[in-house]
Amino acid sequence: MKPGLFVIGSFFASDNTCPHCHAGYQTSCRQREFVTTAQAPVLRVPLADGTLVSTPELPPDDLIPSLLTLSDVMGTGWFAADAANVKPGSTVVVVGDGAVGLLGILSAKQMGAGRIIAMSRHDTRQMLATEFGATDIVTERGD
Ligand SMILES: [Zn+2]
Repeated sequence: MKPGLFVIGSFFASDNTCPHCHAGYQTSCRQREFVTTAQAPVLRVPLADGTLVSTPELPPDDLIPSLLTLSDVMGTGWFAADAANVKPGSTVVVVGDGAVGLLGILSAKQMGAGRIIAMSRHDTRQMLATEFGATDIVTERGD
């Protein structure tokens, strides 16, 4: 890292060098630390070289709100889809339509899933689920 870069980081600081990080589990890093009080104009990030990812250039202002999701919920949704081994043409069911579930849908779409079924009972979230790639909405629960 060097001064002046636009960076994105997780709320877990990690060295990105230990066996856990190499296996893709940076939140279980042997040196992990929580990054707290991050809603500040200036922040010291421990293990910055392992934790932060820089963008190739300064992003336009209208892209920044979307990039904010990369520090938390998008990573979780992506990890879920990756852990579920989503492949091109896969059929995926996402249970839950909160931020993580919706970004799990977006991740599955990015990974090429052919059919994405969203379990959702909220109209506004169903619209987002469809926008993010859900092909089917299931609103029922129980029997
Ligand atoms: Zn590590």
